[in-house]
Amino acid sequence: METIERYGTDAQKAQWLEPLLCGEIRSAFLMTEPEVASSDATNIRCSITRDGDDYVIDSHKWWSSDAGDPRCKVYIVMGKTDPDAPKHAQQSMILVPADAAGVTVHRPLSVFGYGDAPHGHMEVTLDQVRMPAANILLGEDAVSRSRKGASGRAAFTTACASSDSQNTR
Ligand SMILES: Cc1cc2nc3c(=O)[nH]c(=O)nc-3n(C[C@H](O)[C@H](O)[C@H](O)COP(=O)(O)OP(=O)(O)OC[C@H]3O[C@@H](n4cnc5c(N)ncnc54)[C@H](O)[C@@H]3O)c2cc1C
Repeated sequence: METIERYGTDAQKAQWLEPLLCGEIRSAFLMTEPEVASSDATNIRCSITRDGDDYVIDSHKWWSSDAGDPRCKVYIVMGKTDPDAPKHAQQSMILVPADAAGVTVHRPLSVFGYGDAPHGHMEVTLDQVRMPAANILLGEDAVSRSRKGASGRAAFTTACASSDSQNTR
């Protein structure tokens, strides 16, 4: 929620932040990958490739907390939009609806034998997942745009103040 609040466009906030703040949906953050030492984001292999007005995402993620919860409707996916850029300028984050074509949630990983149901720490693959370029959240083309479009949290705080839901996180 904080990432979308700080860096999302008004359209991204309307679509995802408001229902998150109101506790109607949940999100997951997909950075860690089985093939690389993922504590260093420069190692991330997920490819986010520009194709016309879209980005195409290919990746193998795991430890995606909350992705096993049926209420989880959106992922923030970290990958590389420009693998030829300087080491710390290659990465971007993109919003991916959990029900997008090409997304497969495979299994929950266990922590000391526990699966942390229902939300789970999931292994997820993204196979040729096509997203509109407007879904980019951070990174390529996004920083200057988000500064221009930032509308602050006040409107969403007000919008959710009347919500009865206690299920925000
Ligand atoms: C319960 C749980 C929930 C999680 N939820 C999420 C989530 O929601 N989303 C998500 O993306 N990830 C999640 N993770 C994954 C977590 O963020 C990663 O496990 C963590 O970032 C470490 O990455 P790694 O497992 O690839 O380990 P590595 O990066 O391989 O690190 C292993 C060890 O090697 C050290 N190390 C790594 N590189 C170097 C280096 N170059 N030099 C010296 N030492 C090094 C590290 O400090 C560490 O001690 C979760 C993990 C757990 C256990």
